[in-house]
Amino acid sequence: MMMEQFRHSGDFLAFTLANPNGLAPCQFELGSGVTVEIWDTGVICFQPAQAARQHIILSCGVHGNETAPIELCAAIVQDILQGHLTPTERVLVLFANPAAINLGRREVTENLNRLFSGHHSKGAGLINAERQRAQALEQYVTRFYDGAPANEPRCLYDLHTAIRGSRFEKFAVYPFLHGKPWRKQQLQFLAACDVHTVLMMQTPASTFSYYASHSHGADAFTIELGKVQPFGQNDMSRFAQADSALRALITDRLPAPKPFAAEDFHLYEVYRAINKQTQDFKLHFADDVQNFTSYPLGSLLATDGDLEYRVEREGEALIFPNAKVAIGQRAMLMVVPTDIQHNLI
Ligand SMILES: [Zn+2]
Repeated sequence: MMMEQFRHSGDFLAFTLANPNGLAPCQFELGSGVTVEIWDTGVICFQPAQAARQHIILSCGVHGNETAPIELCAAIVQDILQGHLTPTERVLVLFANPAAINLGRREVTENLNRLFSGHHSKGAGLINAERQRAQALEQYVTRFYDGAPANEPRCLYDLHTAIRGSRFEKFAVYPFLHGKPWRKQQLQFLAACDVHTVLMMQTPASTFSYYASHSHGADAFTIELGKVQPFGQNDMSRFAQADSALRALITDRLPAPKPFAAEDFHLYEVYRAINKQTQDFKLHFADDVQNFTSYPLGSLLATDGDLEYRVEREGEALIFPNAKVAIGQRAMLMVVPTDIQHNLI
């Protein structure tokens, strides 16, 4: 796709996927007065005519086969470009890994969501496209927030779909805040997106959301919106609430939330991460087990050579099990219900 076709169709996703290795920066203005800036392939910034109050990043496609959020973001961008939706806030939309999207794969060579906060340059360094893209995405996030006054709200919602089903279809990961309080208003926004299950992390991570939170003070979340499906096979009605909440957010038309009530949420914290240590690592439950499944105390979860992992706590639930990760990487996360009232504003 060439520039002219893109300007006609407003299909920035198609323009990105036709140019997965880069796009020349350009800028133009819409009839609504919104300034559009393309910074690179998959990177598009909208500056409203009037002064914005919030600085919002929506990202998708960090994992290339997670199509529903990609379709959702593509439709929002297209509606803005065609004048059907006029943002009043500053918005940066990121299609994070175009090469992987083109392949219909989670990644080309490496999990992009393990490469942020400088992890792209550790070890072997910037040796592949995902590492280079992680570094570039950090630079785009920095550039975007550098254009925001320090006292104005900044957020990043990194949208995913999970590999497996989940006992709670939608859930969010709240990155480690290093003791800073969790925010009711953000939990209420997640609820508006139909996300009522939140995992509170207690350690730094190499994810995109932790990077935005820790390096830029953004309210940032990884949001899992459901299960992975191929392009065109998503039942978009399942994402309707998230779609309308995001559209309301960028046009400053979110309805006033109902008063915060902890009972509206399933809140979890990490109890332990189980890392794969040998080639013999094996999970002892069905391949299609749902995220947030729990088993009785003492149940065997996994073996790894001579090591055995059993359920140690009442209510302990598993998420993101994956025996196929590289040795040394996380094969499963065990979580337990938690209460956050003591540090909530
Ligand atoms: Zn993902």
